[in-house]
Amino acid sequence: MSIDDVSKIVDKVRIYRTSFGSQFDKAGLSKLKVEWHRVLEPYDYDDVNRKLDEFFKDGNNYAKYPDPYGLVKFLTKHADKLKIGHQYVRCNLCGSLIDYEYYDTHYDRCSSVNYIYKMSLKYFGKKLNKEKMMEADKKLFEDYYLNFCQNLLPIVNSGIEKHLIENTIRILQGKEPSTDFKEVRMELNL
Ligand SMILES: [Zn+2]
Repeated sequence: MSIDDVSKIVDKVRIYRTSFGSQFDKAGLSKLKVEWHRVLEPYDYDDVNRKLDEFFKDGNNYAKYPDPYGLVKFLTKHADKLKIGHQYVRCNLCGSLIDYEYYDTHYDRCSSVNYIYKMSLKYFGKKLNKEKMMEADKKLFEDYYLNFCQNLLPIVNSGIEKHLIENTIRILQGKEPSTDFKEVRMELNL
């Protein structure tokens, strides 16, 4: 990343930790940026920025300052990304950078997790742990998803939602989705 990118990173730290770097005058602060740049330069801005968001979101980091070495700890350098030939795309649901090779798998899980999260909040008033659902292995997640849909089906009040849930259940059970849209058409007055 460029020195301008590093500037944005450091400025962001100062937004969340207002006393960060306050011991420095202008010259001192630019020295700090040069030093951070030395460490961050081989990495992509998006990756570091995401790590910074994670740092601030984590309640354990309350009142703590991030440091550049901590931020890049598990990141892949830009040059190494090119070497392995991996391409990264941003998931338009959760905003994470995803290896293109695994994008479909990620997106599939990510949209299911979002759906479960949304429906659980709406019908059960319960906030579920998205990270845990993202990390669960395939079989475990699918069993959970199936169980969730089966519990949800009797309590949803919209025909369209019912139809979607029934089809999700069918797909999770390895059956063909139903194309009988009678209920849906009735609700939409078609
Ligand atoms: Zn996602």
